[in-house]
Amino acid sequence: MLLSSCVIWRHVEWERFRAECPGGDEELQRLIWERLDDSLGWLESLGAEPVWRDTENPLTTGRRYDPRSLTRLLARDVELETPLPDDVEPPLLLATGGFPVRLARERGLLLRANPWSEGDGLDFALARGAATMPGMDEFYGRVMPAPPARIKEEGFVPLAQLYGREARVFTEDWREITPSEVAWHENDLAQLIGPRAWYVVEETNERIEAARAAGATVVGRDENIAVHVGAAVTHTIGGLQVDTDARVAGADGLWAAGVDVGGVATGGYASGLAQALVLGLAAAQSIAES
Ligand SMILES: Cc1cc2nc3c(=O)[nH]c(=O)nc-3n(C[C@H](O)[C@H](O)[C@H](O)COP(=O)(O)OP(=O)(O)OC[C@H]3O[C@@H](n4cnc5c(N)ncnc54)[C@H](O)[C@@H]3O)c2cc1C
Repeated sequence: MLLSSCVIWRHVEWERFRAECPGGDEELQRLIWERLDDSLGWLESLGAEPVWRDTENPLTTGRRYDPRSLTRLLARDVELETPLPDDVEPPLLLATGGFPVRLARERGLLLRANPWSEGDGLDFALARGAATMPGMDEFYGRVMPAPPARIKEEGFVPLAQLYGREARVFTEDWREITPSEVAWHENDLAQLIGPRAWYVVEETNERIEAARAAGATVVGRDENIAVHVGAAVTHTIGGLQVDTDARVAGADGLWAAGVDVGGVATGGYASGLAQALVLGLAAAQSIAES
């Protein structure tokens, strides 16, 4: 969350959420869609001040916060313990941010996330009989400049090559794979291109110049500009199966929230922060009542 743009959002239309994330669990999606506005109200009751009162995208609604201030506010009473000990007594809420590091390593993708989310929560729950949702190889990601470009955390947002809708897309060996349609969030392009590809455009833009300055390979090709890119994993979309109280299926005494949970955005893209906020509150309420 600290590294994010901190827009906590949902789709405006329920049907659009379903259509854009067709593989997701309908009940979990409904929970997040229905509870997000109240959950944002809860954040504001703690003193969180939004920097935007709505998103800039007509398809979505939500709030944007300053990630550092929001993290400081929410983490003020949190003590962290890592790695997870073997003998934790229930109730236990897992919120370790999925397994982007492991997925990126296994598939040769770039990483656009914190370097610690290896999947400790997932492993801990699996060892206790937990079930997972389909889509364990799916991720929300961005297309980023490929090495030798140097991408540090502060480059995660400005270096995202978010002009894929205007680009022709080629594999490493110059086979064209430009899709006929690209979604507004371009997450589908990140899934398509995998570890390495070329974006070819007629004219340069701010993001290409930022990539060039970071050391990316940008070359001329048939009077066009070709940028060497790769998909970077921001968070995983697969994960633990939970019910609408955020209880992990198959593992008594365990709850999960955020992107440790799978099956919310399967087949598409939705707000990981909304998933963290709503499921975190659902888990807290369920634990308090258990
Ligand atoms: C550049 C960028 C921009 C983004 N922009 C947005 C956006 O605008 N809107 C949006 O909705 N989402 C955005 N995201 C995604 C969003 O940040 C995540 O989906 C969200 O933070 C997931 O919340 P979480 O609580 O599940 O995990 P995280 O916020 O990743 O928190 C998990 C924490 O657990 C820690 N951890 C891991 N293993 C252990 C362990 N064994 N013990 C203790 N701690 C552990 C990790 O270090 C991390 O601090 C963005 C992400 C990035 C990187």
